[in-house]
Amino acid sequence: MPATRFDPYPRARLFDGPTPIQRLHRLEAALEPVLRGARLFVKRDDLGGIGGGGSKLRKLEFLLGDAMAQGAEVLVGVGPLQSNSARLAAAAAARLGLDCELGLWPLEGQAGEALVSGNVLLGRLFGARVQMLPDASAAPGFIAAAAQGRKSYQLPPGASSPLSALGYADCALEIADQEHALGLRFDRVVIANGSSASQAGLVAGFSLLGRRRLVQGFSVLADAPAAEANTLALARACHALLRGEGEITVADIRIDDTWRGPGYGRTTAESLDALHLLARHEGLLLDPVYSAKAFAGLLAHLRDVTRPRNENLLFVMTGGTPALFGYQSALGT
Ligand SMILES: *Cc1c(COP(=O)(O)O)cnc(C)c1O
Repeated sequence: MPATRFDPYPRARLFDGPTPIQRLHRLEAALEPVLRGARLFVKRDDLGGIGGGGSKLRKLEFLLGDAMAQGAEVLVGVGPLQSNSARLAAAAAARLGLDCELGLWPLEGQAGEALVSGNVLLGRLFGARVQMLPDASAAPGFIAAAAQGRKSYQLPPGASSPLSALGYADCALEIADQEHALGLRFDRVVIANGSSASQAGLVAGFSLLGRRRLVQGFSVLADAPAAEANTLALARACHALLRGEGEITVADIRIDDTWRGPGYGRTTAESLDALHLLARHEGLLLDPVYSAKAFAGLLAHLRDVTRPRNENLLFVMTGGTPALFGYQSALGT
């Protein structure tokens, strides 16, 4: 029944759902001394669809649906150099027959492989025209010049908007369906928070089911108060698009910025440990910018002795694998 709430919003099919939910048996065994009955699961949003996969596809389905409905000819996006959003926008444009213009800037200290490999390489492979910008301040000028007479559709930063959050509201309903099949209920759903629409969408989706305070975000970009404000605004706007009952309040938005470290795109010892741990125990890839920091937060939660026993914990794997190749030296391999 709730699925019909999405019907007013055109959608471009870019993603093959539902994505699997898998239990991490080997990691549970390795964490046994602190586990206290917790069960660890991952939702494989790093799989499926086009362009190498990742969470941005769920968001782009609604943005590209909107772009196609408006008769767009060119997709315009800006972001940092190793942007998953830009890479998947390029793949989506290829799939839908649109041109794609990307303006990308390096983060402080990025050099060598980070300038040409990973997401940048893939964006070019998908046929996007990539222009290197000196920094974020050059983005408005790039956007103004990008259309060149074509009807353009401008992607919001990080592909985050109330409309794109619908992709993760739908994911919340998908998770609830999968809980029935698995015969359990999750006590906590954990996700990285960057430009915030993913967490916001999950919050809006679970609130349709009367489930509150279920989603724990770990901010990798803004500090907790700013990320909370942004996530709350997006969750409310998404909830309104879905004509949800009741109100989403600040109490529904749980965000921890402890694991962000020195800033967006800058690795931390804890995030690299988390990345290695999941790679070596489960053969699964976190990404250095987002999910490795969120997983470091989940590990800290597991070590918290005040945590309730026997929790069912779901970590949303959001993709970003290509960025690994922009971080080769940090990974020490
Ligand atoms: C963008 C992104 C996120 C965060 O999603 P937001 O909606 O921007 O908060 C998490 N993980 C990966 C790999 C991403 O690319």
